[in-house]
Amino acid sequence: MGPIALSDYMAQCLLDPEFGYYINKNPFGGQGDFITAPEISQMFGELIGLGLAQYWLDIGAPDPFVLAELGPGTGTLMSDLLRATKLVPGFQQAARISLIEAAPAMRARQKAQLHAYDIAWHADLSQIEDYPLFLVANEFFDALPIRQFMRTLSGWSETMIGLQEGDLIFGRGPQCPPALLTGKWDITAPDDIIETSAASAAIAQEIGLKISKRGGLALIIDYGDIGGKNDTFQAMQNHTYVDALQNPGQADLTAHVDFAALVAASQPAVGFVMQQGTWLLSLGIEARAQRLAQNLKGAGLKNHWAAMKRLTEPTGMGNLFKVLALTAPKAPLAPGFV
Ligand code: SAH
Repeated sequence: MGPIALSDYMAQCLLDPEFGYYINKNPFGGQGDFITAPEISQMFGELIGLGLAQYWLDIGAPDPFVLAELGPGTGTLMSDLLRATKLVPGFQQAARISLIEAAPAMRARQKAQLHAYDIAWHADLSQIEDYPLFLVANEFFDALPIRQFMRTLSGWSETMIGLQEGDLIFGRGPQCPPALLTGKWDITAPDDIIETSAASAAIAQEIGLKISKRGGLALIIDYGDIGGKNDTFQAMQNHTYVDALQNPGQADLTAHVDFAALVAASQPAVGFVMQQGTWLLSLGIEARAQRLAQNLKGAGLKNHWAAMKRLTEPTGMGNLFKVLALTAPKAPLAPGFV
């Protein structure tokens, strides 16, 4: 077998039915490979829940509606979201909860965490019911396969992965014409790297179509950029960056999300992007943090404020992480975006 594209390598390493990272490993938390915002503080899922419920009220409280999450991990975000929205009259009664999860082991964890709720699991968004859509995806798009192209003098050359004397190595594919990446030739210089994700674009398109047709709100949160011309492919294991070609299936492989590409793919839905820190502050995380702090002391209290800082401050996740809100054309703005 010859060299393969980065997208095929990522897809196999992450979701191979036998050896895939999400199939075999338990990636989350202190014992795992990385920690995500919902695992850092309950405030993250709570504010997302209240933001979605506020928007549900803003557009006339549609009943029924689909409450969906892409790649729910341990189920913590959905659990915090559902606890926080319990007191919003009618919200949970109208919600058809759908979780989109590829890995059987992850589904089992989500089932255990969310056993008190009536939930449907699906392999992809095409299977969800045709109602207004309220969707959240945290650190989901970064796990979707990307292709990478390096700009040369006369075209593009794709990043490939091959074998050399038993070791996996990066290589460059043959020259492709400048027209391969529409709109990118004029804004790049030789050696710039353009990353594309067909899987991400297809999912963003599906969300955009559903929301434009039926109404609703999608909140897509991830580390990433608006556009970008760098190599952002990375591998993480035990909370450290590792060589992505060593031990395939053992490390989490991700890339920065290109929010401009998601917005473009989701049209005719309307997309706005904010930094996570500003958005959480605008949703009222400080007031929520003060309230929770009243019941804490000692190390618990210290960790609580450290978590709040980590989620919001520019040196933590505040600036690198972005939030994309997708709404229907002419619909109200998403909470936190006003
Ligand atoms: N949202 C969670 C987990 C992020 S990890 C959190 O914030 O903690 C990515 C999650 O997406 C995992 O649950 C993984 O199993 C799932 N996943 C990865 N690729 C997927 C795909 N192509 N389709 C469906 N689920 C996928």
